[in-house]
Amino acid sequence: MNIAFIGLGNMGMPMAGNLLAAGHDVVVNDLVASAMQALEEQGATRAASAAAACAEAEVVISMLPAGEHVRRLYLGDDGPGLLDALAHQPLIIDASTISPDDARLVGQAARERGLTYLDAPVSGGIGGARAGTLTFIVGGDAAGFELARPVLECMGGNIFHAGDIGDGQVAKICNNMLLGILMSGTAEALSLGVKNGLDPAVLSEIMKQSSGGNWALNVYNPWPGVMAESAASRDYQGGFLTDLMAKDLGLAWELAQKTRATVPMGSQARNLFALHSAQGSGRLDFSSIQKLYRAGEDD
Ligand code: NAD
Repeated sequence: MNIAFIGLGNMGMPMAGNLLAAGHDVVVNDLVASAMQALEEQGATRAASAAAACAEAEVVISMLPAGEHVRRLYLGDDGPGLLDALAHQPLIIDASTISPDDARLVGQAARERGLTYLDAPVSGGIGGARAGTLTFIVGGDAAGFELARPVLECMGGNIFHAGDIGDGQVAKICNNMLLGILMSGTAEALSLGVKNGLDPAVLSEIMKQSSGGNWALNVYNPWPGVMAESAASRDYQGGFLTDLMAKDLGLAWELAQKTRATVPMGSQARNLFALHSAQGSGRLDFSSIQKLYRAGEDD
């Protein structure tokens, strides 16, 4: 298939790479030229704008930081948005994590133009993006979901249909609120153990095999050196930015406000990540929340 891929960051880059590896023709666009260059070297075609990338696309995939970027891309800002350049009616899949309201706004505008739009946020981190084992959590109509499935299967292992447009985002936001709580809790427990004389690797192994085991411990250990492949072991570079986690916890807070749900643990996690970002760690991987607990250590 001819697939346009817009947004080649930590996630989009390996996801587009997996579409190429599966034999699709991929036309890419990003604001950063070096990102396009890297994919060109893997066989993609570079386009000068998002609209140019979509000119012959059967499927359009976007992977952008936040709702404002997705709104601006599809609906336009000063000028017309991408939706007005898709008269040939490709399937649109937005894999960014944004608010359900933003997804519904763009999805409704797409429907008004006869276009099929799916929100399809992902879980699994850059490891899952590289390995092609992401979980896709899709919102949109059933026919669109079935059309998208074979494309998503090139990038992911589990493909869920959560409901109509926006429902994929609701599920994803619930998941990431839990992840924010688990990562900060894991960092807190590791710090307590180390300050009481334990080796972080030994403590991690004990907790992995005990009732505190969780995804952060299993695949994303926040303590440097415990896991060779983790962001913590490369100075928290790359991965899932603290600013993006703070954004997702903010989305959870907004959802809670709107529906009068109580999220005391999620609110605590939101404040921790917001504080960590304000202290200059916004562009570090979110597992760097560990640093907040290590403040004052000699090293
Ligand atoms: P990122 O900041 O690394 O990448 C975003 C990319 O979008 C950048 O390369 C940027 O230049 C590009 N971009 C922004 N506006 C653009 C535009 N108008 N046109 C073209 N390109 C544009 O972010 P990421 O980590 O890849 O995350 C992308 C989305 O996926 C976010 O919504 C994030 O919350 C979500 N997510 C990330 C992870 C993760 O582990 N990194 C995991 C799950 C979900």
